[in-house]
Amino acid sequence: MSAKIIDGKAFAATVREKVGAHVARLKEEHGITPGLAVVLVGEDPASQVYVRSKGKMTVEVGMASFEHKLDVNTSESDLLALIAQLNADPKVHGILVQLPLPSHLDSDLVMNSIDPAKDVDGFHISNVGLLGTGQKSMVPCTPLGCLMMLRDHHGSLSGMNAVVIGRSNIVGKPMANLLLGDSCTVTIAHSRTRDLPGVVRQADIVVAAVGRPEMVVGDWIKPGATVIDVGINRIDKPEGGTRLVGDAHFDSCAAVAGAITPVPGGVGPMTIACLLANTITACCRANGLAEPEGLTA
Ligand code: NAD
Repeated sequence: MSAKIIDGKAFAATVREKVGAHVARLKEEHGITPGLAVVLVGEDPASQVYVRSKGKMTVEVGMASFEHKLDVNTSESDLLALIAQLNADPKVHGILVQLPLPSHLDSDLVMNSIDPAKDVDGFHISNVGLLGTGQKSMVPCTPLGCLMMLRDHHGSLSGMNAVVIGRSNIVGKPMANLLLGDSCTVTIAHSRTRDLPGVVRQADIVVAAVGRPEMVVGDWIKPGATVIDVGINRIDKPEGGTRLVGDAHFDSCAAVAGAITPVPGGVGPMTIACLLANTITACCRANGLAEPEGLTA
C-alpha cells in the first residue's frame, strides 16, 4: 500500500484564505481589523524566524500585526506590564508570547497573565481547563491543525483508535483531549510506555509528537492507518549539510499507512494558519459576532 500524502502546505493555504475572507468581511461590515500581538524576548534565532513568519502571514491575511521585541535581560515585571497593556488594548485580539522564554522568566506565570480571551496559543490554565472539560476554549495551534487535517481526511473520527505519542502540554495532552472530543478511543504513549510498537499497532490514527528523528517505523503501523507527524528534527546528511525529518520514518511508514503528513510540509504550515484562525475566532468572540465555521475545534 502507498499512503496518501496529506498536504499541510496546501491545506494551510486554504485555511489562510478562509481567514482572509473573514477579515475582509469584518472590516467591511463592522469596521473591525483583527489584531495579533507577538512578543519575543531575546534573540533565539529559531524564535526570530518564527516571529518574522507569523508577522508576515498576519499582514498577508489583512490583520494588524504588533511585534514587541524585548531585550534578553527584560525583567519579569516589565514583561508582565507589557502583557497588561496588550490585555487592555482593544486593537489587540490575540497575544502570543514566543516560547521558550529566557530561564529567568517564569513561563507559567507569563502565560497565565494573558487575558484568556486573547490567549491564541491556548496555554492559559483557564483554556487548558476548558478544553479538558470539553468546553469552548482557545485551542493550542499545533494540535488544532492536526485535528483539522484528520477531520478533512476522515470526516468523522468517532470510534477510531488514536494513539498520541508524547505527553507535552503544548502538543500531546491537548491533542489527546481534542481526539477525545471527537469521540476517538485515545491512548497517550510516552517515554515510559511499555511495548510502544505494540501500542502503536492498535491505532487507526497515530500522532507522533516526540522530538526523536524517525523513531516511528513502518513495522509499527497498522495497514491503512493515518500518521500525523508533528516532529521537527534536523539531522546531518551523509553528504554534508542537514535536513529536516519528522518523528516518523517517512518511507517505511508511507509504505504501510493509508495517509501520512510529510515533514516539512505537513503539520508545520498548519500551526501558523491555526494561529491566524484563533486570532479571528478571538476577535469575533470579543465583538459578539458569529465565528467563521471550520476554524476551531
Ligand atoms: P516535548 O519534549 O515537550 O515532549 C516530548 C514527549 O515525547 C514527552 O512527553 C516524552 O514523554 C515523549 N517521549 C520522549 N521520548 C520518548 C520515547 N522514546 N518513546 C515515547 N515517547 C517519548 O516535545 P513537544 O514540545 O511536544 O514537541 C514534540 C516534537 O514536535 C518536537 O520535535 C517539536 O519540535 C515538534 N513540534 C512541532 C510543532 C509544529 O508546528 N510542527 C509544534 C510544536 C512541536
